[in-house]
Amino acid sequence: MTYTRPEFVRSPTLSGLECLQCSARYPVEDLPLGCPACDAARRNSNLFCVYDDSAQTLADRLPYRNTPALGDGGTPLLRLPWLENASVKNEAANPTGSHKDRFAAMVVAHAAASGYERVAIGSSGNAGIALGAYAAAAGLHCTVAGYTRLPEGTREQLSALGTDLRLFDTDRERVGLIRDLATKPDTLAVSNIADPFVGCHPIGIEGYKRIAWEIADQASAEVRHVVLPTCRGDLAWGVYRGFHDLCELRAMPMPRLHLVEPIPRLAAVLDGAPVTGHFPGDTGRLHSIAGHTTTVQAHRAATLSNGTAVVVSPDVADEWFARLCGGGHVWERSSVTVFAAYDRLRAEGTIEATEYTVLVATSHFFKGL
Ligand SMILES: [Zn+2]
Repeated sequence: MTYTRPEFVRSPTLSGLECLQCSARYPVEDLPLGCPACDAARRNSNLFCVYDDSAQTLADRLPYRNTPALGDGGTPLLRLPWLENASVKNEAANPTGSHKDRFAAMVVAHAAASGYERVAIGSSGNAGIALGAYAAAAGLHCTVAGYTRLPEGTREQLSALGTDLRLFDTDRERVGLIRDLATKPDTLAVSNIADPFVGCHPIGIEGYKRIAWEIADQASAEVRHVVLPTCRGDLAWGVYRGFHDLCELRAMPMPRLHLVEPIPRLAAVLDGAPVTGHFPGDTGRLHSIAGHTTTVQAHRAATLSNGTAVVVSPDVADEWFARLCGGGHVWERSSVTVFAAYDRLRAEGTIEATEYTVLVATSHFFKGL
């Protein structure tokens, strides 16, 4: 049995990139600072993929039709008997245990098709393991810039995947490495190097659209609300774009997206704070959704879907983590914030009892050590 390096071909329907904020159009290229025009104006924003008019099927609206074949996607939509009129999209069922597989599969296909030999990412764990696995599957090298607090088990997993793991005490040092690597022609930096961060590589974010498409196929009722954990809004924006495709191609209504965060960041921006602001606060052990900034893409996912931001404190997340573990559910601490948020949104009437809702549980608790 001989392992051959897979070939990845960019979809001919992918016509360019567009800025979420200023709508400037760019050809398909790797711009790790996001929109150059907005970066120059110090109001950073990510870009998103645009397709030509011939893209009339969902599959036409992905940058790559084939990606490293590790079995990502097709995750279950769970009905839990105690969760009234809601289901859980269980992204922990992805091969490396989180939704990040979908990003990693797509961005690694892009890196390989574009001739890069290495991918690089700043990660608190989930994204690094996903990127390491998919890079290995595609025969690419992978550098992960993590924190020195990274659990020993996670370090061993990254090492087993052959990643070049670098550990730093501060975010500044960590981003500094990715910024250096982004200047190397053989390396694709897939995470943020802008200040403040704008979000990760737009081609990888396209991988999250399939979460929306799968939910639409799996749901037995019209989805009115989606609740999902949020850091810089990659997942929320990708899911929003997926539902946007469904609106255009299948005339489906857009569900309201509720973005859950540990401290008021997006919530503060929705109340009028600048999107480039710095928002202090304790994020506890909610490492996957920590950070003190938000993004234009998080803001757009909430506002364009008529959604909201929901703050779930680390203490409340701890309560729900214990409650769910007590019922045998093994989701990461950051992931269970969606249950607390749903409980609150139902209690305050933002979600009515008759409105079917999907909660996105992003990660297995093996990852939230
Ligand atoms: Zn722009």
